[in-house]
Amino acid sequence: MNDSLRIRSYVQDQWVDGEGEGARLYNPSTGEVMATASTTGVDMGGALAHARRVGGANLRSLSFAERGAILKGLSKVVREHRDELLELARTNGGNTAGDGSFDIDGASGTLFFYSNLGRSLGEGSLLEDGESLPLGKETSLCGRHVWVPRRGAAVFVNAFNFPAWGFAEKMACAFLAGMPVVVKPATLTACVAFRLAELFVDSGLLPAGSWTFLAGPAGDLLDHLEGQDVLAFTGSAATGRKMRSHPRVLDKGVRVSVEADSLNSAVLGPDVEEGSDSWNLFVKEVSREMTQKAGQKCTATRRVFVPADRIEAVIAALTGRLARTTIGEPGAEGVRMGPLASAAQLEDVKGGVGDLASVGEIVFGDPEIVERADGGSSGTGCFMSPVLLRCDEPREAAVVHAREVFGPVATVMPYDGAEEAVELIALGEGSLVASVYSDDAVFVRQVVLGIAPYHGRVYLGSADIAGEAWGPGAVLPGLVHGGPGRAGASEELGGLRGVYHYMQRTALEGSAELIGSILGEGAKST
Ligand code: NAP
Repeated sequence: MNDSLRIRSYVQDQWVDGEGEGARLYNPSTGEVMATASTTGVDMGGALAHARRVGGANLRSLSFAERGAILKGLSKVVREHRDELLELARTNGGNTAGDGSFDIDGASGTLFFYSNLGRSLGEGSLLEDGESLPLGKETSLCGRHVWVPRRGAAVFVNAFNFPAWGFAEKMACAFLAGMPVVVKPATLTACVAFRLAELFVDSGLLPAGSWTFLAGPAGDLLDHLEGQDVLAFTGSAATGRKMRSHPRVLDKGVRVSVEADSLNSAVLGPDVEEGSDSWNLFVKEVSREMTQKAGQKCTATRRVFVPADRIEAVIAALTGRLARTTIGEPGAEGVRMGPLASAAQLEDVKGGVGDLASVGEIVFGDPEIVERADGGSSGTGCFMSPVLLRCDEPREAAVVHAREVFGPVATVMPYDGAEEAVELIALGEGSLVASVYSDDAVFVRQVVLGIAPYHGRVYLGSADIAGEAWGPGAVLPGLVHGGPGRAGASEELGGLRGVYHYMQRTALEGSAELIGSILGEGAKST
């Protein structure tokens, strides 16, 4: 790849290019321009209309099993080009091989998971919801609920940190439901998504109209949404607000899903002894969550709550691990943490550390000093050290619970008892995931029931599962992903639950015979 690469859009089953130079995509390790992209002049209204008319009809003519077979083929395409995609994730995203695999293997794994779900749903294309409800005394009058595919386009506007998994997890659900997709990755890191778009198109697996890809800014895309479309957004809370409140979205009643900021917590139980399996799991996972993808994960742990009398020991243990983080060009030998995705992200994270330091103290790292393990100059690229902070008055520190610092940064805070842990965690006003490290069933129950309303997922780190724990950062397709409040108040994935977002549930009321003939053999009971 060189700086003359032009990434293009795929619209109305053709590759098209926007006008002018457009946006520049960089290598965050070197600052070099990798590619340019423009959507200026791209006919967004035409793109959506074609997707709805041609792609929707084509997908709806297929059974769940047939749609699942397409997803299986796409999953294979991702796997077969894994090395090439990892290389792009390194150069355009600053990802180490491990970071990149989180995204790329996550994409192929999620497509594969939903291909299996499609196979298990079989040859039908409708889903029944629940049992038939008798409504008549003399006749077969009854009520039944059915899920049908929506007739619009599923529009995905995604964040920079997961250019592959970010759209694949949404696409798997929409395709299985029978909706065509319009994929708009974040421009900053779009090289991986663009290459996948090329591979998908070249695979010949995609029915006409079912796949639209936009390389570059969204332009007037949202102005053309209709009431049968679904807008699924992942990104910052500020942009999420714009999506939700977009006049066209409000006017047409477009279904919107938002995955946004999240102040994820980890809590260490009072029962966990230093050096025990649960302690080691906690230390390993908190430090990994801070440094994997340089902390640029929506599920990364930002707030760490520990019993007051353990705070020094926890800081010492975390510091010991963070000190071993080797930072540098992500392809260089031995490097474990690459750069942030852009100079703007680096500035934002440094600003965020400043905000957090105003209510606490930095106990590891310096946002202005980075030691590179690859021999590179500290003045080049978007590198920074992990930064651990300590805040002893978490109730007085509103910013710790409100400012998502999207980098290798976390804050350790004391708590006293399960009740206080719950109260402090809830100050985050809704997050994607919280992790509870404890082997005390009473403590775990109290905390989990207290924090569950504020989270889409709660991860339980205990000694008995330590040997095969995935950690809180891994989003599994069979479990729901999303969170209330600040995290966007939406939900994705979770097996079939994620597919329903792209379908309409309709109650049918009438004779059992007529309803039965509508549903036919193919409707699958769920
Ligand atoms: P962002 O700046 O909000 O951008 C996200 C997407 O929105 C990009 O594709 C961007 O396009 C697009 N966009 C921006 N303004 C728009 C507008 N006015 N109209 C239409 N589209 C618009 O977010 P980001 O910096 O890429 O991502 C970081 C954030 O994402 C973090 O807050 C993180 O927590 C969140 N995130 C959440 C999850 C989750 O699952 N909850 C997952 C990953 C990330 P351009 O790139 O072309 O500007």
